Amino acid sequence: MSAAFFPQDIIIKKRDGGALTREEIGFFARGVTDGRFAEYQASALMMAIFWRGLNAEETSWLTNAMLHSGEVIDLSDLPGAKVDKHSTGGVGDKVSLILAPLAAACGLKVPMMSGRGLGHTGGTLDKLEAIPGFRVMLDIAEFRDVLQKVGAAMTGQTQQVVPADRKLYSIRDVTGTVECIPLICASIMSKKLAEGIDSLVLDVKFGRGAFMREKTQALELARTMVAIGKSAGKPVRALLTAMNQPLGRAVGHATEVIEAIECLKGRGPADLMKVTFALTGHMLILGGIAKDEAEARRQMDTAIAGGAALETFRRLCAAQGGDARVIDDHALLPTARHIADLNAPAGTTGFVSEIDALKCGHAIMALGGGRAAVIDKIDHAVGISHLIKVGEPVAAGTRLCTLHGNDSAKAARAEALLRDAIRFQPGPPKPEPLIQDLIQ
Ligand code: URA
Repeated sequence: MSAAFFPQDIIIKKRDGGALTREEIGFFARGVTDGRFAEYQASALMMAIFWRGLNAEETSWLTNAMLHSGEVIDLSDLPGAKVDKHSTGGVGDKVSLILAPLAAACGLKVPMMSGRGLGHTGGTLDKLEAIPGFRVMLDIAEFRDVLQKVGAAMTGQTQQVVPADRKLYSIRDVTGTVECIPLICASIMSKKLAEGIDSLVLDVKFGRGAFMREKTQALELARTMVAIGKSAGKPVRALLTAMNQPLGRAVGHATEVIEAIECLKGRGPADLMKVTFALTGHMLILGGIAKDEAEARRQMDTAIAGGAALETFRRLCAAQGGDARVIDDHALLPTARHIADLNAPAGTTGFVSEIDALKCGHAIMALGGGRAAVIDKIDHAVGISHLIKVGEPVAAGTRLCTLHGNDSAKAARAEALLRDAIRFQPGPPKPEPLIQDLIQ
């Protein structure tokens, strides 16, 4: 069948606004993987799709073709419901580190494949690597083994899974074709469906620190991914959450690991726990562990108060080679040389009106804790903690955050960015709802 098509005919058809057939899309995904569809032809097709779009059927066929470009993990022999969560990414988003052990402690299996941070948003794998010894690249056999023993396993994408996405994403990254809803949805959903999940919860973020600035775009992304899940026979729920200020009070790597551990000990900040409980709650409902949100919340409260969630995190660290002693002794995590408070200047009165998440993300990059290119090395020790939140009162000398830096020139640049990010006003601002929609 593959000889029946020429790449240029497929490109021209899409360029002129036509709808591709399932066979044409299958030929393309196979050809990208085995090299018969040259990279320059794939980039031309990506640009044609960027402008002309894909309809719902084409998007679902593309997802399916990408999914089957490599190995699809089969976890059906493992007992229990396999449910994962995916976030479109934000600043201070360490939800996965809390949610995976929490959901596992409540009885789910959480097979989680995550990514690295790029640009201003952090990545779960980088945060886990702040834990000395933690191995984030498991092969499929190890992944299954940890999942079976612990109930959760957290790894990067293996070479065998969705090779078409690896090729296409690297092409899109350098051809101005990342911001295309059908391509984003096919990319995310093919990887998630390859994990062997039964169902999936999505955290689709919008706002200054998110991939999608506008709520309408986030809504379209969420609806498309839920529809793809449905056509693959997997229930998917998506929460639309605001990402204008960082989530929680810590941004960075070691600083975020500490905050996640505190959450598992029942001492997490309200906004971070709200999103974590909402997402984990929907996972428990989809997995048949809880009948509704209230029951899910009771189970999660018990798992945190009784220590089961923290214990699962401890076992997860140990199973993946990480030093679980960091849970009781944060000093074993990478620690920055210069740790200093950033305080409100003289004359400040009123309330915090805004904390620009994008500028905070840029501050972390300025400190050396972010990546401009995929191959860049990052400093796990740097970041911020004790960040004030929008709506909190301020006066001269109030701590705005604590800066963790290893280089004074970089810390000065980060400080300038943070001072610009945090704004004040005389009266309390109108609170912005954190969770704005549920799509299912
Ligand atoms: N994340 C992905 O995995 N793929 C995209 O296309 C965009 C974000």
